Amino acid sequence: MSISQHAVQAINAEVRALAPDRPVTVVAVSKTQPAVRLREAFALGLSVFGENYVQEALDKQAQLLDLPIEWHFIGPLQSNKTRPVAEQFAWVHSVDRLKLAERLSAQRPPHLAPLQVCLQVNVSGEESKSGVAPADVLALAQAVQVLPGLRLRGLMAIPEPSTDQALLRARFALLRTLLHQLAAQGLPVDTLSMGMSADYPLALQEGATHIRIGSALFGARPPRSPAQD
Ligand SMILES: *Cc1c(COP(=O)(O)O)cnc(C)c1O
Repeated sequence: MSISQHAVQAINAEVRALAPDRPVTVVAVSKTQPAVRLREAFALGLSVFGENYVQEALDKQAQLLDLPIEWHFIGPLQSNKTRPVAEQFAWVHSVDRLKLAERLSAQRPPHLAPLQVCLQVNVSGEESKSGVAPADVLALAQAVQVLPGLRLRGLMAIPEPSTDQALLRARFALLRTLLHQLAAQGLPVDTLSMGMSADYPLALQEGATHIRIGSALFGARPPRSPAQD
């Protein structure tokens, strides 16, 4: 199935309606999609792509060198796989510990602009394993802020899957509050990466600046072999 212009337009219309006052970046989440799908998406105006798996992303980047794509790494990252991410991506949304940030900073090639990073926050408590605890965000942000190879941009979260709209809104509101707390401490942050296909309108209402959209753009994801990464 190819990406539909209708899907792109529907998302752009939601963004304009729910966030008329600010720029919002649609990160097209292209994990498990072949390079040809990204090419189609680019032709429909999408130029920021989010990938979750290092080797899969590198393979696609090699096939799409002719396009000025901005690559965002959004998945869990193992410390031993930071180098290609530091070298080949513009952004990482999933920094959740200092060791990862230090490696990305040290491995960022000096001729490139600093790697833009968001700290992933666990806004769902026990329900989710990834992300720094809300109580530890400020300390991690202050430590990341001084790393020369990185530019701290803001926060990212993936709430637990839920059909409870009030609960999801509360999770997104928590992330917004945490970002404001960082700004109040003098950190130059401006990014709230939150909202996926099922919940991005709620995230936009709570202040999202980056929404990460996969299946609503590309349709259901093709399966992926677990051995791949
Ligand atoms: C897969 C993924 C998305 C997109 O999910 P959809 O529900 O397909 O929109 C967004 N963010 C992250 C971190 C993901 O892993």
